[in-house]
Amino acid sequence: MKSNHKRFFIGTTLILILSLVAVAMVPAISTVTVTAKPSADTNLPYVNHTTTWYNYCPLCGSYNTLVINPKGTYEVELTCSACQADYCAVTGQDKYGHGSRANLISAESDYSRNNLFMELMN
Ligand SMILES: [Zn+2]
Repeated sequence: MKSNHKRFFIGTTLILILSLVAVAMVPAISTVTVTAKPSADTNLPYVNHTTTWYNYCPLCGSYNTLVINPKGTYEVELTCSACQADYCAVTGQDKYGHGSRANLISAESDYSRNNLFMELMN
């Protein structure tokens, strides 16, 4: 009985420390807010959407390299200045000829915030 309590205590302490690390790390990454039309395959209406993404490129793992529409596309896209990947600014999908290879991480929900944390831990 006593050792079970101890294990429980160590477990909760570890979870607490890990979540503190996650909370401390994630906000350090800046975000990028962009208004654009969908430019990847999607059922979304072809109108302007405003979205906020973590400024992190999942393809090359660089931070703060996403630039708003340097190529001047009509829809407005996000481009990684490190690896030149283009992302749809509405869905966050990588616009690769043969389908999306990766997705930007939305800064609009806790769920994706946790995903970003998992990505950083890999
Ligand atoms: Zn990149």
